[in-house]
Order: sequence, then structure tokens, then C-alpha cells
Amino acid sequence: MSTIQTRGVVLRGRDVGEADKQLTLLTKSYGKIMVTARGARKPRSKFLASAQLFTYSDFIIYDGGRFYSMAQTDVIESFFKLRDDYIRLCLAQYFIEVCDKTTPFNAPCDELLHLLIISLSALAKGARSPYLIARAFEMKFFQVSGVAPETARCAKCGGALTQRVRFGEDGTVCECYERPAVRVSPAALAAVRYILLAGLPDIFKFTADPGTLNEIKAAAGLFFRAHFDARINSLDMLE
Ligand SMILES: [Zn+2]
Repeated sequence: MSTIQTRGVVLRGRDVGEADKQLTLLTKSYGKIMVTARGARKPRSKFLASAQLFTYSDFIIYDGGRFYSMAQTDVIESFFKLRDDYIRLCLAQYFIEVCDKTTPFNAPCDELLHLLIISLSALAKGARSPYLIARAFEMKFFQVSGVAPETARCAKCGGALTQRVRFGEDGTVCECYERPAVRVSPAALAAVRYILLAGLPDIFKFTADPGTLNEIKAAAGLFFRAHFDARINSLDMLE
């Protein structure tokens, strides 16, 4: 049987059979795949650590044609500190749920994987506000998913943005826009522009007060509902 070698993050784990686990992984080059880890629920399983949610590992996987089975794993980063803080844990859950529910199987999505890893890592480190990390994740997620919001001019009429800027289904809009939109302050608009322009490792290097972050959250929520079908359950835990 041939094998593939990749690395990735555990998005979901489901118990199957006597002691096996079916893992949904977001992997480099192969995208989202489902892999059976035989015996992963046994206390002394060699897959025990790498089968945990959020864990980032190197994998060698048997490719059975119609199914994948785990051969070997080596943990790169468990993001263990996420488990110490309820808010950070909920947001990590939110990130993996967004990745899982918006990504089809077997399509490469290396940039999304990179975004997920740096976001989990920033959450686990605890140096920055978890809410700032969440807002940066959301805006960058839109961009790597190919639906980056317009922020330079009105997304509908193309006109210059006046003082009263709002955020609608395509991004920033002016008074011409009649569909639902949320008001965004100059500070929130500047933060969104920063996130979209920054390279992936730098997306958390901005400051914003809680009110500004809440405006971005409202804009991201509206934008997400307009562009994706998925219902994200883990957000409910944070309300
Ligand atoms: Zn307009």
C-alpha cells in the first residue's frame, strides 16, 4: 500500500469501532482529509497525542485509494496552553469549526492551514487579546478564501468613502447602499485594512480597543453570513 507524507491540524475526531478514531485533518498539499487512526483510543496508543483536537503533527498516512489510515505521527505542537483558558479554548474551537465547515474535502488549502496554525499559536501564547486574534483570523480568512472585502472605496458604486462608512455584504459602502450594513469607525476600518494588507505572520500586530473590535466582529459576522452557508455553532458558546 502506498503512503503519503504530510503535516496538519486535527479539526475533528469521532470514535469509531472498538478503539479507533476517525480524524478530520487540515493538511499541507492534500487539504481536508479523513483518516482512520486504528487503536487511537487505547491508553497506550502511539496515536494518542496526535489525535487530540487542535494538535499540529507530521503524518505518514497509508493511501488505500478510497480511504486513508494512519501509519505514523509525530507531534509538532499541541497548543496545550489553549486548555487553560475558557475564552481561548472557545475561540480555538471556533477557528477549527470555520475551517472544517467551509472547506471541501481533498482540495489543497495551504494558506488556510497556515492562517489556522498562526492563529492557534497566537491564542496559545496568550500575549495578545484573544478577541483581537479572532477578528484578525476572520478578516484574513475571507481573504484566503477568495472573498476579500472591498475596503478602499464603496463596494457598490465605487465612489469615495465619506465620513459615514458602513460595512455591507461586499465590504465598505457609502450612503448609496440599501441592504443591511453595520457602521464602522475610522479606527475599525484602519484595523481591517491593516489585517488585509499584512502578510500572514504579521496580522496580529495592531492595536484596537474593545469597542473597535466589536465593530469588526459585527462586520465580519454580516460578511460571513452573506458569503458562506455554514452555521458556526461554537460562536454560541461565546455569547
Ligand atoms: Zn456607494
